[in-house]
Amino acid sequence: MMYSYRIVAIGDIHVELNLLNLAFEWISKNSIDAVIQTGDICNARLLPKDANLAQILNQADSTFDIFKSSNKLINFVPGNHDPIEIGSKYVSDTIINRHSNSGYLFNYKITGIGGSHSVPSQLIGKTVPFIESSLDHIYDLADLDYVGKRIIDDFEYYIHSDIIKNYDYLFPCDILITHTPALIEGADYHNYASLGIYKLIERYQPLLHISGHIHLPKTHIEKIEWENKKATTLINLGSLDEKKIFLIELSKNEIKVDEVSVIELE
Ligand SMILES: [Zn+2]
Repeated sequence: MMYSYRIVAIGDIHVELNLLNLAFEWISKNSIDAVIQTGDICNARLLPKDANLAQILNQADSTFDIFKSSNKLINFVPGNHDPIEIGSKYVSDTIINRHSNSGYLFNYKITGIGGSHSVPSQLIGKTVPFIESSLDHIYDLADLDYVGKRIIDDFEYYIHSDIIKNYDYLFPCDILITHTPALIEGADYHNYASLGIYKLIERYQPLLHISGHIHLPKTHIEKIEWENKKATTLINLGSLDEKKIFLIELSKNEIKVDEVSVIELE
């Protein structure tokens, strides 16, 4: 008998089907209870500039076939390469879109926020909304929600975000899955990260935050210890083309991360 729930987390797939098959081969041999995927199932870079919705959605078919035939419980959020429709077209009792949709993964409360502030040209207006912008000086603040300032490479960026206003109602939770990583002070992936998501994490201190979206500087695990002794483990899954997936073992008896390990696919 296993004492932990064994969850595999998979980052950006971008139609890398050979690697996805390798990942699910590993999953089928290692008594995995559920799979988390943080979006970017499609890949706009492989599409013509004038691709229509049907062509974009086509890219997702094979991935969801693999999800379905695995018979595993899948929790995912759409990324910035994924049209909003993937959140409804492929869902079932076992394939769950967690964008803006709180629920339970075993005894853990889980919720999700998909999308990101950068959207490929073919996907403009077709992804889940994610409104956040950073300005290096203040002007015209009147109708923007100001969430905070980050100093990056000696520049002050003033960051405005609808993320808190739109998604605060999803919290608290134990597990937060987002496509976009949280913007932590001093992070070197600031162009891809969200201060709004960081602020939600700071406010609600979930046990676990799992994100994708950044392909560089690759996978990343970090633990924030809060002043009240709670802690949040942040995992950035990077992209599946790094040939890595993550095994996250969660306690069955309490709300606790037992272990996180990186699995190399070969
Ligand atoms: Zn992305």
